[in-house]
Order: sequence, then structure tokens, then C-alpha cells
Amino acid sequence: MSLGTPERPLRVAIIGAGPSGFYAAEALFKSDKTLTVDMYEKLPVPFGLVRSGVAPDHQKIKNVTKVYEKIASNPAFQFFGNVTIGKDITVEELKTFYDALIFTSGASSDRRLGIPGEDLAGSHTATEFVAWYNGHPEYRDRVFDLSQETAVIIGQGNVAIDVCRILSKSVDELKKTDIAKHALEALAESKIKDIYMIGRRGPAQAAFTPQEAKELGELEICDSLVNPRDMQLGPVCEAELQLADKAHNRKNMEILRALAEKGETGKARRLHVEFFYSPVELRGEGRLQEVVLERNALSGEAGKQKASGTGEKRVLPCGLLFRSVGYKGQAMPGVPFHESWGVFPNEKGKIENGLYVAGWIKRGPSGVIGTNKPCSYETVESLLADLDALPACATPHTAAVLELLHKRQVRVVSFEDWRKIDAAEIAKGQEVGKPREKFTSVADMLSVLNSAEVAVGV
Ligand code: NAP
Repeated sequence: MSLGTPERPLRVAIIGAGPSGFYAAEALFKSDKTLTVDMYEKLPVPFGLVRSGVAPDHQKIKNVTKVYEKIASNPAFQFFGNVTIGKDITVEELKTFYDALIFTSGASSDRRLGIPGEDLAGSHTATEFVAWYNGHPEYRDRVFDLSQETAVIIGQGNVAIDVCRILSKSVDELKKTDIAKHALEALAESKIKDIYMIGRRGPAQAAFTPQEAKELGELEICDSLVNPRDMQLGPVCEAELQLADKAHNRKNMEILRALAEKGETGKARRLHVEFFYSPVELRGEGRLQEVVLERNALSGEAGKQKASGTGEKRVLPCGLLFRSVGYKGQAMPGVPFHESWGVFPNEKGKIENGLYVAGWIKRGPSGVIGTNKPCSYETVESLLADLDALPACATPHTAAVLELLHKRQVRVVSFEDWRKIDAAEIAKGQEVGKPREKFTSVADMLSVLNSAEVAVGV
């Protein structure tokens, strides 16, 4: 019997309920094949980095979940929240229930700097801090010493900017967002006055995007400071800015020049945007007390310039540091993994017949939410091109998977269940003037369902 027909619908499992997972489901539903999609997610709640990564003061970006809600309303879609692949059910087992698996598990780990002192208390990854202020259950108990006066952020991507903004905003600016309650309370006591965002290359190479850079000039209680000296570019950087693909760098330069001109206006906090420095050592007795920075010089052709140390060092006292130098994907038992790239090796999203991948775990941690759409569509195209060669699964029944998970005492959260959690979070948020108050533990998320079940006598 051919797969993808009314007689034998194609059965696809998507692992990961972030943007790339939903775009993969959308691409499948847009095809002319008869199929079903079961989406697996470790947390009881969907939307991946839109929920746990996008900064709370960027609420508008989160509206994209409306698109995902619509995709999830397709009758051929089922959500399997609160199921950990590799623990509750293995990849090998999934293969017996599905004809194809699409991994969209993202990049939840982080790249390391590889310098002495990196693991001192007080030195954290940006990923931890972001997940903490966004109320991710696995990070809600992290502690960040906000009694320090100086915080340093290494890296100049959009994640670094997010971290700087959250540290530099007042409670009044944050309290109307969906920031986690514990984070708002901790940030309300923050003593941080000086924040340094350190880039190893120059302003013309900064990885952040203009929209995010612009926000640095609009902070209520924080001056963003740029050294005018850093804005004087050499001929290679000038040539680089003329390249066709450098439009956002040109715009960044305009914004940074305006900040350099504006200078300090006497606000309570200062964000120092610094270029041409790499951290070479973190030092401290038992905990972080200072970071040693080395001045860099750039070399190489326009568009491919690299930073290397000049030997000139500087010591910056600080008790809190965030490494924001990129995310990294994690291995999954039963799936090939490229250790140094942190991705599942693939050709246009195909790992091998029956195994596919999309999003950050396919191409690495780059791009904005919308970048995942063409990425997932390409993967689905590869999958559908293989249709005749797919190994049809032995047990093509979702009820059988549910039975197995039930036997293992896994409380599978359906999309209907998620809607109840969603409604409860929104209601809790309304009480305090926030768009939502997130549940930050799995137990609290599930307790909403238990009480709803009691209420309807299930
Ligand atoms: P990113 O954009 O790749 O930035 C990484 C930064 O780390 C760069 O400044 C990079 O400098 C620096 N870096 C890397 N290795 C380093 C090292 N060993 N020492 C010092 N610096 C180092 O990564 P990201 O900020 O994690 O963001 C990931 C993706 O999510 C990006 O595509 C970003 O645009 C997106 N994102 C978007 C938004 C938004 O749209 N608002 C928000 C958050 C994230 P070099 O340039 O020199 O390599």
C-alpha cells in the first residue's frame, strides 16, 4: 500500500514544538498527501524559543504563536507534550509507530570560550539567564548575583543585546511583560550600574541587527555608551561595509555613531558597548572578581576579517559575567550527531531514509524565527521526495503510542490541555497587568489539568 494515501496515510512524528516544528507541520499539511502529524515536546507547553527565548519585552514577536495555533488546529495534528524522547520513548521505538521522524529540537546548549576560569561562580551562559527570566522550568532555580555593580556580557549578537536590555531596564519597564515572577522580583533588587557588552571584532562586524541596536538608545534609565574612537574605521572595514550583504552592518554603524555622539546623559545605569576585546581569563578567589581582556586587531580580506590578540591586556573588575557566544545543539541517542558543529548531519534536511531535521539542529543557531520557515519547507520537500523509499512503520496507530506512554505512566499533554494551561496563565497575568504569568514548574502546569479534570468529573 502506498504511503500518503487515504488507504495508508503517511505517519510523521515531529520532535520539538518550536517554530521549525510548526513550520514543518504546516509544509506537510500543504502537500497533496494524506498524512498525520504527531508533535512531541519535552515540556507540557509548546512554542520552544518563542516562549523560552524571545525576550519578555518583545511581546509582539510572540504573536507568531497565533500562526502555530492555527496549524495545530488541523484535525490531522496531535500534540504530545510532556514526553521526553530518549527517556519516555526511544527513537528506535518511535520508528515502529511512524514512517518518518523530523527532529526540530533546536540548540539548547551553549558554545564555550575555552579560557581559564570560565566555570567560576558568577560566570554564566546567556542561555541560562534567558531561560531563567523566561520561566523555563529547568532554569527557574538558577541564582544570579545581582548585588554586583558591574556585569559583563561577552559577545555582540541579539542574545547579548537581550541580556543587556533586561539588566538595564527598570522594574517599571519590565513589569508589564510576561517576564517570570521570580526574575522580576530578583531584578527589582538589582544593584547593577555598569554593564559591558564586549565584542571581539569591530562595530562594522557586530552580529546584532539594527532593530535591536536601536533599542539601546531608547532605555529609560540607562545610557548606552560607544567610544567615538572605535567608530573610526580602517579602509578594509570601509570596503566591507560596501558589500551587498552588509546592509544591516551599515545601519548598525549609523545607530552606533549616533550613540557615540550622544554620550552620557546622567542616567542611573550605563551600558558600555565595547569593541576589539576578547576575554582571555576569568579570575577570582572562589568566585569571579575580574575578567582579563586582550585588545584585538583585525586581519584578512573585507567580509572575512578575523580578530587576533595584540598582547595589550586590561583588567575589568566584575562579579557577574554572561557568555553569549552562540548556542549549540545537543546529541540525541539513536541519531547521528556532528559533535563540533552541534547539528545532526544532513543533506537538505535528510539525515537518512525516514530521519529528517529542521531548524537550528539542522543548520546551526542562526537567523530569526522566520528563517525557520524555508528551512522546514526544504526538509519536508526532501521527505516527500523519499516517499516511495520510506520504510513503512510496523504499527501505524497513534493509539498504540498513547497506550505505551500510558503504561509508562507518562502524563501526555494534548493541545486541548495546553489551551487550558494557556488560559490559566493569561488569567493569572491579568490579575497583575501582565500578558501572562507563566507557570514555571512542570508540576504547576500539570496541576491546572488535574484541577480541570476534577472540575468536569473526569
Ligand atoms: P550570534 O548572532 O551568532 O552572535 C554570537 C556573538 O558571539 C558574535 O558577536 C560573535 O562574534 C561572538 N563570539 C563567538 N565566539 C566568540 C568567542 N570565542 N569570543 C568572543 N566572542 C565570540 O548568536 P546569538 O546572539 O546567540 O543569536 C543566535 C541567533 O538568534 C541569531 O541569528 C540572532 O539574530 C537570533 N536572535 C534574534 C533575536 C531577535 O530577532 N530579536 C533575538 C535573539 C536571538 P563574531 O561575530 O566575531 O563571531
